[in-house]
Amino acid sequence: MKANRRTDTKPELALRHALHRLGYRYRKDYRLDLDGGRRVRPDIVFTARKLAVFVDGCFWHACPEHGSKPKNNEWYWSPKLVGNVERDQLNDTSLKLAGWTVVRLWEHVPVDEAVATVVSALTAAGAVTKASPPAQPSPPAQPSRPAQPTRPAQPSRPARFARRRRT
Ligand SMILES: [Zn+2]
Repeated sequence: MKANRRTDTKPELALRHALHRLGYRYRKDYRLDLDGGRRVRPDIVFTARKLAVFVDGCFWHACPEHGSKPKNNEWYWSPKLVGNVERDQLNDTSLKLAGWTVVRLWEHVPVDEAVATVVSALTAAGAVTKASPPAQPSPPAQPSRPAQPTRPAQPSRPARFARRRRT
């Protein structure tokens, strides 16, 4: 596809590298399991600050500058594309409900600008979660934190259980 000049630049990759160079550490393609069974896999995840970053392809996510040409291309609004956009919105809503900050960047955004956006979002998120106020009496917000699935600390399982499973 000729329109894919941008595959060379890989904006997402460029953003990751730039953030890494600045000393930020993140997870990539980290799956978040949200309430209601919704699974979201942002492009870049800062788990401690609960910041999810998406770098959206202009075409597949219907960027207003490069993606949207419904008059010329009827096929553009194919169910798939509409589904993508709707899913983006649902994901954003679910993430926000779960206390995440969501940053969406179009792939056409210059990397410097993308970095600046992420860094300021991180700063904002860090100010909330990381500012460790002295002896907070009652942690505000964060209602029922999704109770850690209490994993019973796997006591060394008796060997006979292991052997029970004959083949
Ligand atoms: Zn675009």
